[in-house]
Amino acid sequence: MSKVLIIGAGGVGTVVAHKCAQNSDVFNEIVLASRTKSKCDAIAKAIGKDNIVTDSVDADSVEQLCELFDRHRPDIVINVALPYQDLTIMEACLKCGVNYLDTANYEPKDEAHFEYSWQWAYRERFEKAGLTAILGCGFDPGVSAIFTAYAAKHYFSEMQYLDIVDCNAGDHGKAFATNFNPEINIREITQNGRYWQDGKWVTTGPLEIHGQLTYPRIGQRDSYLLYHEELESLVLNFPTIKRARFWMTFGQEYLTHLRVIQNIGMARIDEVEYNGVKIVPLQFLKAVLPNPQDLGENYHGETSIGCRISGLDKEGKELKYYIFNNCSHEAAYRETGMQAVSYTTGVPAMIGAMMFLTGKWVKPGVHNVEEFDPDPFMEQLSVQGLPWEEIVGGDLEVDRLG
Ligand code: NDP
Repeated sequence: MSKVLIIGAGGVGTVVAHKCAQNSDVFNEIVLASRTKSKCDAIAKAIGKDNIVTDSVDADSVEQLCELFDRHRPDIVINVALPYQDLTIMEACLKCGVNYLDTANYEPKDEAHFEYSWQWAYRERFEKAGLTAILGCGFDPGVSAIFTAYAAKHYFSEMQYLDIVDCNAGDHGKAFATNFNPEINIREITQNGRYWQDGKWVTTGPLEIHGQLTYPRIGQRDSYLLYHEELESLVLNFPTIKRARFWMTFGQEYLTHLRVIQNIGMARIDEVEYNGVKIVPLQFLKAVLPNPQDLGENYHGETSIGCRISGLDKEGKELKYYIFNNCSHEAAYRETGMQAVSYTTGVPAMIGAMMFLTGKWVKPGVHNVEEFDPDPFMEQLSVQGLPWEEIVGGDLEVDRLG
């Protein structure tokens, strides 16, 4: 018998709960807990199965987390709250002997800065406790790194150039909305770009480098170089990589709104005083923007996320390789009531926990997903709603950018 505890009842948590419930042979019992219990209750009601119970927790408090863990005694926690809660949840896992999985690396609230050092610092303690922590198991980070590990295992003797390409060609009909938590999303996009080149990080201005890339069944889209957290672990785990970059598509309308938001100070993450109350402008903005969970109903089109890799194949010959998944917003909504960005994050999080519970990804310590065998995960991706495709020997286009 296995029991999973999902923390967070946002867009991603909703998808994780649906997908765990669909796989009740692995997830025999499901606990869904978040800050607002009524949101958990609504999700459990929509799923309508009797093996889901709900609870409430403030995941900023290790004490409350331990009480929650003691009440339910889960085998693994799927953390799909916000990146701010990663360390408290990891700390509670250690205290109570629970395994851990998340989809985003820790970020301090007062600084838009993401790196793995804070979580990697827990390696020895998890190892000693005999507990497994799986970091970054959404789509990107997550499947992007598993695609890379799969390419390394089956196609390359030496991977040299890696470009992760993330396109959302969906249209939700709103002038401006973010596809996941607006605070986290805007913090990510407005910071400097960064990529790996010949053994060191190169920093660019925010969204400074861009160009057109062609996405399968979508066409050409403006794609912007961003720093993305999986680059940090991938260049360490695959040291032959000479250059690693991450690209994301944005429409002009979105970028214009973003520029205005920044210019008028609404992207600030420091406190300002308003009518005697301290507020953080970006948190206030989140409260007035459309809720990402409500975008699904009218969302059309697809996402396309993948890895374009070149290097030497197993025989030492030049190889160009592209592996990707396209996901339909409409299909994701029909299945779970959420759009494709939440879907492409929640499905891999469920599969990662499934890998752990079925004994395929059990490795005490703190690990990024590319450190595990990609094959059983890739098999499940196709079965669980995110089939992937490969193009071998095509034009990767990426050398024309930058
Ligand atoms: P949402 O904002 O929709 O949901 C976050 C949930 O966490 C909410 O239910 C919220 O509760 C809850 N929460 C926040 N703070 C606490 C707390 N202190 N204690 C308990 N619960 C809390 O976010 P998303 O669902 O869009 O994203 C979830 C995670 O997924 C984020 O970490 C995000 O970075 C990550 N992500 C990863 C991606 C990937 O590909 N790897 C892509 C997209 C997202 P309440 O409802 O009360 O506010």
